[in-house]
Amino acid sequence: MTTTKTRLQVHAIDPTRLDVVRRNGTDGHGNPVHAFPASGQGEPLRCCLRMARPGESIALISFAPFDHPSVWTEVGPVYVHADRCEGHVGGLPDELRTGPRLLRTYRDDDTMNYDHNTLVGEDEDIEPVLERLLALPDVATVHVRTVLPQCFLFAVTGGVPVRPARAPFGGAASR
Ligand SMILES: [Zn+2]
Repeated sequence: MTTTKTRLQVHAIDPTRLDVVRRNGTDGHGNPVHAFPASGQGEPLRCCLRMARPGESIALISFAPFDHPSVWTEVGPVYVHADRCEGHVGGLPDELRTGPRLLRTYRDDDTMNYDHNTLVGEDEDIEPVLERLLALPDVATVHVRTVLPQCFLFAVTGGVPVRPARAPFGGAASR
């Protein structure tokens, strides 16, 4: 049996871009960075892809997911930790992997592919939808957004094959 399973690549905001924002005290869109304590009542952090806990020091800044000139560049509000955090490593974040979500699809030249923009319903797991979208030949990147305000949460790319597990004790896969 041959399966072409791929592993989704989840992209939080690049910590080096956030370091510049924190160091400069401005988000690059004309807004000063103000740290304030999180309420814990619905502040998804785009630096480490989890909800803010009450009292954590956070900031609300403007952010553009594309870091190069593009007519599809959109600038919008995102919560981030006020100071550098551990970031996000791994797959889909546990706290931000269910609907309702808007999945925006882009080709490999970062033009929006309007045909495949997809709404994910309440409490629905976004993973199988992302797997399906990123298996399409004309979808390279998906931006996961909230539905009503359409705020950017994180980007997902695909196409990295999952290697078959190596036999642990010198089976057929080793020589
Ligand atoms: Zn963070």
